[in-house]
Order: sequence, then structure tokens, then C-alpha cells
Amino acid sequence: MASPFPNDIVNAFCIDLEEWFHVCEVSTPYDDPKTWETAQTCIVKDTEVILRLLDEAKTKATFLAVGWLAEHRRDLIKRISDAGHEIGCHTHFHRLVYELTPEQYEADLTRALGALREVSGQPVAVFRAPGFSIKPSCFWAYPIMRRHGVMVDVSIVPAPRAHGGINAFARDPFILHTGEGTMKVFPMSIMTALGQRIQFSGGGYLRLFSMPIVHYGFRQNHRAGRPVMTYIHPREVNPQQPRLKLPWKRRFKYYVNMETTEAKLRQMLQSYRFGTVADALAQVKHFDEYEMADGDIVPVREAAAHGSADVAQGAD
Ligand SMILES: [Zn+2]
Repeated sequence: MASPFPNDIVNAFCIDLEEWFHVCEVSTPYDDPKTWETAQTCIVKDTEVILRLLDEAKTKATFLAVGWLAEHRRDLIKRISDAGHEIGCHTHFHRLVYELTPEQYEADLTRALGALREVSGQPVAVFRAPGFSIKPSCFWAYPIMRRHGVMVDVSIVPAPRAHGGINAFARDPFILHTGEGTMKVFPMSIMTALGQRIQFSGGGYLRLFSMPIVHYGFRQNHRAGRPVMTYIHPREVNPQQPRLKLPWKRRFKYYVNMETTEAKLRQMLQSYRFGTVADALAQVKHFDEYEMADGDIVPVREAAAHGSADVAQGAD
């Protein structure tokens, strides 16, 4: 039978597993994690919708979970893991990384990884920062991640963005020499249009854009042989979720076209091949190599790159 897909590229389907009130950068009644225990919860029901869509498409995905959920919604993490999906980490308390000190970040990360590994029984080696909040001021997070067994980071948006976002950053997945070992960095997908870098395949962008624009972004990346990295939150399939009081710009982006998400996800899943982050990386034949230098990320010099085959293998 002919494949229903336009090409063999396996794209990464990611879910940022968090509650409807896990919003970044604005103050809400849920700033203090103690309030989370008694807050209304939607995540189990909303995640079931996404699990059903993935089942329909016979696709496995990577669920980047807030570590707090492993302590308070153990059954949900187990249910996702038992269904064969990959569990990754979205910090413990959903704080922006660039607002933390390295010590605070390390404490948060190790608590999250410990809880998620214990409940899921999985290695938990993929990390995404809340609000894609890895930027040059906190590249110090990479050696910390690697030291604690994170082998792939999916936190960078190589385009302008409200919080996080590094314009002109690499678009292809690459190997990063952190000084604590190598890991891979898989940037969020963007497309270029009218000379601008724009996100198209996740969250508010997926809800805002019509499907022809989303398909345009997929085609542009696939023509370059690049798998697409997506993301969605469970709350985005639930138009009935409780509403937060947010500044109007955030409110628009946070809630726009919520009723279209499920149909768009279904269409995306039927139009392209998807898998976990590991599945998407497994097909990439060449990785550029970068290293940390004076807190920055720079290409590995030619001579050093040739001598580093042994280190590069460590990132597999
Ligand atoms: Zn998040």
C-alpha cells in the first residue's frame, strides 16, 4: 500500500505536560506551587484527548512533563509511560530558566528528573525549558543538564519570541560539547517568510495559523531534509478550561482558536510521519558540532572536530 505521507521524514511530536495555570512571566493566583494542590485540574482529561489522537495515528510522542506532576499526578505519568510514549522533563516548578541561578536550576532539575524517573521507570533524557527560556545569559544550564543525564535539549527557538528565542541561532539539530560530555540540541522548528523567522508548528502559532500556512512550514523544512519539531499543551485541546486574567496580548495568544486545536492536530498527524524526539533524531545523518566557550555556544574548530569522534559517539 502506498504511504499516505509525502516523504519518509519522521517529525518530533512533543507535548509540554502541564496544567492550564502553568503560564510564564505574568503573575496569577497560582504563582505559589502550594496553590496547585487545591486548584481545579484539567490535565488528566485533556491529556486523554491527545493520547487518543496519537493512538488514532499509531504514533508515539515525547511528553515533557513538569516534575511536580510526578509527585501529585503519578497515575497520569504512569499511564503515558505505560502507553509507550517517551517521558521528558519540563523542570519541576515551571520557572523560567533565565530567572534562576545555576544552583536553583540544578536543584529544580534534579528534583524533577528524580521524580519523573522513579514514576515512569524511563531514563528521562530530554529537557524543555518553560517558555523556551534558554538564551545566551543562561547557557550555563547545558553542563548542568548533561551532568544529570539530559542527552537532548529541545528548549531553543531560533526566532524572535517574547521570552526566550534566539534569532539567527542554528536551525538543524546539533551536537554540543558541554565540558561535562556531549549532548544534542534540537531547536524548535521555524519557517522563513518575508525575510522573518516565524514559528508555525506548535502552541499558539498552530492555533493562530491556517493549515495551509502550517503545511508551508512543514514543506520548507522537509525540502531542507530537516525534521519538524512540534509542541502542544494539554490545555490547548480544551476550550472549556478555566480562564486566567492575563494582559490582552497574552490572553489572545494563550486562548486564540482553542476550538480548532484538536482538528488541526489530527490533520497534522494524518499528513506527516511523527515519532518521539529520539525517533526524529535517529534519522539525522549529519550533526554540526558546537562547544561552550566563555559561556557562549560556538562552532567547534575544524581540527578539534576531527579529533572528537570518541566524544561525539557519547551523544548517541
Ligand atoms: Zn510549559
